[in-house]
Amino acid sequence: MSAPADGLPPLRDVIARHEIAARKSLGQNFLLDLNLTAKIARAAGDLSRSTVLEVGPGPGGLTRSLLAVGARRVVAIERDVRCIAALHEVAARYPGRLEIVEGDALTADLATLAGAGPVRIVANLPYNVATPLLVGWLTAEPWPPFYERMTLMFQREVAERIVAAPGNKTYGRLGVLAQWRTEPRMLFDIPPQAFTPQPKVTSTVVDFALRAAPLASTAGKLERVTAAAFGQRRKMLRQSLRGLFADPAETLAALNIVETRRAEDLSVAEFVSLANALA
Ligand code: SAM
Repeated sequence: MSAPADGLPPLRDVIARHEIAARKSLGQNFLLDLNLTAKIARAAGDLSRSTVLEVGPGPGGLTRSLLAVGARRVVAIERDVRCIAALHEVAARYPGRLEIVEGDALTADLATLAGAGPVRIVANLPYNVATPLLVGWLTAEPWPPFYERMTLMFQREVAERIVAAPGNKTYGRLGVLAQWRTEPRMLFDIPPQAFTPQPKVTSTVVDFALRAAPLASTAGKLERVTAAAFGQRRKMLRQSLRGLFADPAETLAALNIVETRRAEDLSVAEFVSLANALA
């Protein structure tokens, strides 16, 4: 393999020197091929005016690519202390453009960390916390949120749930929530062999553009309705919504939703109208 164009050492050397053997408990599957990390960075679009918030930089492959493609600034939050010294070497190569935060992205105040200016979230997410992180970003208040776009990598199965349309067997709570406020698109797959260590499944990069005018509702109500409806996805709505509405048949009729329909056939707009009918 040829030497990396950024003049920094190959990632294998970085990992060996800093003794960053991957830990499953931290969802660590590293991408060591800088051509692939460059492909993800390019997929995030023009970053020259943006602060990129990267969750889980690990040994810094994607971080290096984000900086190489011209991100104005990267704020990278990493939980594994072993990675921090390696990331400081990247920061030294790009003076003033990389800020490294040692911390937990689930509890950190990411909006404050990212600071002012247009913010994009770009990450190869740790699989064990990818869904809670995404749900947190999708349910942010106030809306529009602190970021203007997200380009994120998930296990393919999660990506499929995010973009699933009504009628699809993978359509569920996550898809409704994601499609309510954003327009998620699957961009490309990355095979297991590209990672060290190899996961069992394929990964997929998903781009989330924010909807200009999402239907008015609240994330809390929408989550209550989808939890009830998809909690019993094979049941008719007049049955599955019993815990939420005193008379589900009456509520459904008032919203022009046929009471014998099931959760998996309802559009996002119909879920929003049900959420807004909650007290
Ligand atoms: N970005 C690197 C790459 O593409 O090779 C590493 C990606 S790896 C799938 C996920 C990274 O997230 C790991 O470095 C892991 O230590 C880190 N991580 C796991 N949980 C985290 C959390 N709660 N907050 C911040 N980082 C976390």
